[in-house]
Amino acid sequence: MKASVSGIITLVQQTWYTTWSGPEGSSHTYLCLRVPLFISMKEKTAEDFMRLALREAEKARAIDEVPVGAVIVRDGKVISRAHNLREKNQKADSHAEMLAIRKASSKLGTWCLDDCDLYVTLEPCMMCTGVIGLSRIHALYYGTSDPKGGTVDSLVQIKTIRHIGTYPKEIHSGILQPECSAILSDFFREKRKKKKRDRNEFRKAQ
Ligand SMILES: [Zn+2]
Repeated sequence: MKASVSGIITLVQQTWYTTWSGPEGSSHTYLCLRVPLFISMKEKTAEDFMRLALREAEKARAIDEVPVGAVIVRDGKVISRAHNLREKNQKADSHAEMLAIRKASSKLGTWCLDDCDLYVTLEPCMMCTGVIGLSRIHALYYGTSDPKGGTVDSLVQIKTIRHIGTYPKEIHSGILQPECSAILSDFFREKRKKKKRDRNEFRKAQ
């Protein structure tokens, strides 16, 4: 991938240099070629990657799973993405982060992800915080806190535990917090409404 990107850059630069020294109209060619390239090469921000994690959370919501999504990034590129699949897989450990870590390890052929960053919409639970540390994820970015189950900053402050808290090296919270929180609260509000509707219908049928 790197080779092809640098190949494109070289090709565009060669084209530019050729036209630059050419006849009139070269400045127009310069704009046509360089401006789109600049836009496409612009470095992605934490918010950009969290938006991709939110897209994964949307996929979970579409199949009636608790909407949590995660992506893993290495050298500015997404190498794995996943969403919560606990109900579909009927496995308690099918959390978005766990699935994303497994995919990344399979892809890279290593358990050690110390050159990777993880973006997840919800503060990780105890299980996921443990696996994030064991897989040596470099930086963790999460969207919204989980006061009932989060073990990065909420129930437990992982950085205060010596040895266990070595990884991730960086923790960033509150990335697109309103959006990451809203998708969860909307999901649970709908669940409560449905439960109430079902209960009323059951009573009427008695
Ligand atoms: Zn978890």
